Amino acid sequence: MATIKLEIVSPDRMVYAADIDMLIARSTGGEIGILPKHIPLVTGLQPHAMKIHVDAKEQLIAVAGGFMEVTPEKITVLATAAEEPIDIDINRAQRAYERAQERLQLLRESPDTQGGIIDEHRATLALKRAMARLQTAKAPNPGA
Ligand code: ATP
Repeated sequence: MATIKLEIVSPDRMVYAADIDMLIARSTGGEIGILPKHIPLVTGLQPHAMKIHVDAKEQLIAVAGGFMEVTPEKITVLATAAEEPIDIDINRAQRAYERAQERLQLLRESPDTQGGIIDEHRATLALKRAMARLQTAKAPNPGA
C-alpha cells in the first residue's frame, strides 16, 4: 500500500517522523483526511488530537496549533506544541481543562464584570488544547 511521509515538528524537537497510510487533521477550515498523492496544500491547524493511521492502527498526537504543509509525497506539521501520549502529563492537562472551564463559566455567569478581565478566545483555545491532550493521553495504546 502507498504511504506518505509525515513529520511533526515542535519549536524544540522533532515529535514524530514516519511513513504513514493516512492522516486526519483538524484544519482551520475543518477536518481533512490526507492520503498519499494528496494535492499540495497549506493550512492552519486548530488545537486537536491528530489521527495517524499506520499499519492498520490508529495513533493520536496532540497538536496545540500551527501550520501544515502537504505535498503529494510529504506532510509537514509545524506545531506550536505537540505531544505523543507518553509525553503528556494528564494531571497538568486536567488542571488546564478545569481552569479554562472555570473562566468560561465565570464569563457566562457575569459577562458584565468578567468581560473586561477574561479573554474568551484565549480561554476557548486553552480548553481545546487541554481536551486534545486528554483525548490523546487516554486513547488506547495501539502498540499494546
Ligand atoms: P498549561 O496551561 O498547562 O501550560 P498550555 O495549553 O497553555 O497548558 P502550551 O502553551 O500549549 O500549554 O504548551 C507549552 C509547553 O508545555 C509545550 O512545550 C507543551 O508541549 C507543554 N505542555 C503543555 N501541557 C502539557 C501536558 N499536559 N503534558 C506535557 N506537556 C505539556
